[in-house]
Amino acid sequence: MSATLYIDGTWRAAASGTVREIRCPADNSVVGVVAEADAADTAAAIAAARRAFDAGPWRQTSASERGDLLLKVAGAIDARRAEFVRAETGDTGKRPYESDIDMSDIANCFRYFGKLAAEDPGRIVDAGSPDIDSRIVYEPIGVCGLITPWNYPLLQAAWKVAPALAAGNTFVLKPSELTPHTSILLLSVLHDLGVPPGVANLVLGAGAVAGAPLSAHRDVDLVSFTGGLATGRVIAREAAATVKKVALELGGKNPNVIFADACDTDDRLAAAVDNALNAAFLHSGQVCSAGARLVIEESAHDRFVDELVRRAEQIRIGLPDAAGTETGPLISAAHRDKVHAYVEQARADGAIIRTGGAFATGDRGAGNLDGGYFYLPTVIDGATREMACVHDEGFGPTVTVETFRTEDEAVVIANDTDYGLAGAVWSSDTARARRIAARLRHGTVWINDFGPYLPQAEWGGYGRSGIGRELGSSGLHEYRETKHVYENLRPGVTGWFADAR
Ligand code: NAD
Repeated sequence: MSATLYIDGTWRAAASGTVREIRCPADNSVVGVVAEADAADTAAAIAAARRAFDAGPWRQTSASERGDLLLKVAGAIDARRAEFVRAETGDTGKRPYESDIDMSDIANCFRYFGKLAAEDPGRIVDAGSPDIDSRIVYEPIGVCGLITPWNYPLLQAAWKVAPALAAGNTFVLKPSELTPHTSILLLSVLHDLGVPPGVANLVLGAGAVAGAPLSAHRDVDLVSFTGGLATGRVIAREAAATVKKVALELGGKNPNVIFADACDTDDRLAAAVDNALNAAFLHSGQVCSAGARLVIEESAHDRFVDELVRRAEQIRIGLPDAAGTETGPLISAAHRDKVHAYVEQARADGAIIRTGGAFATGDRGAGNLDGGYFYLPTVIDGATREMACVHDEGFGPTVTVETFRTEDEAVVIANDTDYGLAGAVWSSDTARARRIAARLRHGTVWINDFGPYLPQAEWGGYGRSGIGRELGSSGLHEYRETKHVYENLRPGVTGWFADAR
């Protein structure tokens, strides 16, 4: 099937006829063949979105109608759950169990924005006179370019598509070229629900070709991007020429700060280590908010890291459908090589690779890994702030270990990053945990936990982790313009300039 671009309400092949094979990174098997768009296809999608925004029936819909639509999208994803799970697992190699959790989160995201759509319609402003009616109203921004990555393909798309539609915009979605299939399914859901032509458009293909026009084009009013820092910089630069609104969700290098009093009993140690393991190795570390930087009080270092290494070595890496698989592959051979180069650099800089540091191959109890791109969970001990490994995003199953002696030192280390997406502090001393949390310069801070997020709570980064917020009421506001309507109920002569008649 190559008619997989969705433009102006119809499924199309690429104008050039070019296609791309999509392969599962767990075994390199072909899971689909999709259209490979170029700039001409993206221009057609932008034109359709522009027409639909400027002249289509979509602008006449009420916020509550759009909210109802989003609730139906959530219902349709639930109804077609098995299909969505299969597609996400095929593209990413993650277990169906994990894809299923993602689909629940995605349906909940649509539900959240569905309910939020008609709330907060604006406000009355006191203009200081009974003769003036002054109101703040919210309006859609217009045409939104939505560009998403491969690690949580549909989840990242949902965080953009749901608020964009709730606010009344039209959009062109460009998912990662590696993981297009759940975006195709989402557009088929919108089509089946009767979304007017041009409101929702999908282009597939390489970022620099099919994605680039979304930042540069004058008919796009907002570009919302989730992906790497380097790409984010390109998008911001390209968008500057037309001064469009830019929302960026970029990378992270997220500290997990552990005080000794968080592991001074067997139970506490087990909980803190187990959470540190999840923080670093969930989805083989391909998580923007991964706890890839363990910052531990010196006195607890040995027993904590010994236990972390022991647990890391037990993680069962496997094929998505094999019984017992706990984590899956990296997204591609190129990405696996990049992760390995990152680990080799850490080794060269003097860090100690306590476990891992190599490709995972052969049969480790959950299928043969030789056809895919697997990497061993890797603990990089003895890391210091001078080393690249504590600053660069590895985006693989790696965790660096640094130590501190005082609270102040813990805070300085945890904040010593250009990023600022997320961080955690573990302590059984509540006052201390809150004190540290208040000093962390990160968009999300967990206390005695790592990883949860809520659709009703804002998500985004300080520093170079991005601009703007997704989720929560701010996540909807990203997709709105704010208008002040000032109405004079008793217009008359102002008397400012003399009337010489
Ligand atoms: P990437 O930057 O390589 O690609 C992301 C998307 O941008 C893809 O769709 C790609 O095709 C497109 N793209 C690439 N060049 C482009 C260009 N010149 N113009 C327009 N689009 C272009 O990132 P990735 O490798 O897919 O994803 C991994 C990165 O995403 C990591 O850095 C990770 O931290 C980040 N991420 C951040 C969050 C967050 O919430 N902050 C969430 C998930 C992933």
